[in-house]
Amino acid sequence: MTLNTPIPQQPKHPIVAELRTVLEGTVDDSSLARVQYATDASNYRVVPEIVVLPKTRRDVEEAVAIARKHRMPVTVRGGGTSCAGNAIGPGMVLDVSRHMNRILAINPEAATAVVEPGVVLSDLQKAAASFGLRFGPDPSTAMRCTLGGMIGNNACGPHGLSYGRAADNVVSMTWLTGSGDIVTAGSGPHALEAGPGLAVFVAENMAVLRTEFGRFSRQISGYSLEHLLPEKGHNLAAALTGTEGSCGVILEAELRLVPMVVAPALAVLGYADMATAADDVPALLPFRPLALEGLDAKLVDVVRRAHGPASVPALPAGGGWLMAEIGGATAEEAMASAELLVSASSADAAVVLPAGPEATRLWQIRADGAGLAGRTASGQQAWPGWEDSAVPPERLGSYLRGLEQLMDEEGLPGLAYGHFGDGCVHVRLDFPLDSDGVLMRRFLSAPRPWQSRTGDRSRVSTATAGRAPNCSPPCTAPQRFGP
Ligand SMILES: Cc1cc2nc3c(=O)[nH]c(=O)nc-3n(C[C@H](O)[C@H](O)[C@H](O)COP(=O)(O)OP(=O)(O)OC[C@H]3O[C@@H](n4cnc5c(N)ncnc54)[C@H](O)[C@@H]3O)c2cc1C
Repeated sequence: MTLNTPIPQQPKHPIVAELRTVLEGTVDDSSLARVQYATDASNYRVVPEIVVLPKTRRDVEEAVAIARKHRMPVTVRGGGTSCAGNAIGPGMVLDVSRHMNRILAINPEAATAVVEPGVVLSDLQKAAASFGLRFGPDPSTAMRCTLGGMIGNNACGPHGLSYGRAADNVVSMTWLTGSGDIVTAGSGPHALEAGPGLAVFVAENMAVLRTEFGRFSRQISGYSLEHLLPEKGHNLAAALTGTEGSCGVILEAELRLVPMVVAPALAVLGYADMATAADDVPALLPFRPLALEGLDAKLVDVVRRAHGPASVPALPAGGGWLMAEIGGATAEEAMASAELLVSASSADAAVVLPAGPEATRLWQIRADGAGLAGRTASGQQAWPGWEDSAVPPERLGSYLRGLEQLMDEEGLPGLAYGHFGDGCVHVRLDFPLDSDGVLMRRFLSAPRPWQSRTGDRSRVSTATAGRAPNCSPPCTAPQRFGP
């Protein structure tokens, strides 16, 4: 379905009246609501039949029970900022962001927070900051994305490098399964008892779980079953993180918080191009940057075009930059560590900035650029979709060169940015999708130059292909979400 396909009027689904009788929240099957919820930040469009805005946990339970009775699939939704179609689906869309957005507790001693799933990340950060704490992962959609969606996607953001992914920062969750059970998903010797058959599944599949899953930090597409292993503490909460709503609904989550870093310094390093910048990443990681981000000169041009030349502070010369944030016990210590990192780099030029307005503006460019890149230089629609492709950082340079070679062969423009310290790349890749998908299909099935260079076909993970499959063996039939 394209953006121009009209939404057909539908006869009233019998489920609507039933939902309205039982729920406190809104049940909306108007064309307007269905159109509004037919898209997220991806290339896909799926029109739901009904949109439900639950007011309470009981509303969620009732809505899911009624959907199950009518065999209607359910897609849970937070901020809807997913790039791979994660937050759209047919049947019922359950938007938990509208009402279920309370921060229930912050415990400064334990450095934890308990939240409802619809809490927006920036609200949690504001509340935690008054205790000198923050939630570690921080996608650039922080002003809109919810904790439920972050857990659903196993979100990371620039500071995933130092604080880990959402999976590394979830203590436990209250979870509504597709069969209507409410389970507490945590970790520890008895954690797997929450899922019927899980302990046996793990015991019977130890070898594959140990060798195929969790081989590098950004291997986050699909199910992260390695967390279920005994040496990982049978961490069911972490394994359910990243399941994109396919195993049930998060009703509440206890999260780990981390201390805020005082006055981090920012080193901006200039290179000839993005691949050369990526080559330097392994040399910089030993300095333990809090964040190490890649920024294409073309992305900076996008910001200049949108906000004017004055919006971009002076950057060192280059066609691509690395932005390294470095902490320290004091501002002086952070600056000294940043200077050390610069001297160990192969950058052609560099600048080191203390914490302050200029550094903040540069980080804002990184954050804004991703959103503004929705249009090409000539004002055409640019498409998301090549998101979170991830390779071990030491292979990032050769991966990017291979990708550029493919793009050149097809005459495809694109601009790259991403969490280079984690080997994670986003590319606004301008497939001509408004005509057809032929070129995209050819591109996706072409032999991949980086695979011959890295000699390892299996070590690229990307969200390009779209949503996680519906629950298969790990979440056995009773937990399967949707008919
Ligand atoms: C410009 C841009 C930049 C981005 N940068 C980053 C980045 O740096 N790092 C990163 O990781 N991501 C990034 N993203 C992707 C996205 O913003 C994040 O993954 C974000 O955390 C998603 O949160 P959300 O509330 O929008 O979730 P949604 O998109 O609403 O949902 C995400 C998934 O979680 C599921 N879900 C939502 N709520 C629940 C619930 N209560 N129970 C069970 N499942 C649920 C949904 O079904 C869906 O599968 C970016 C996106 C854009 C558009």
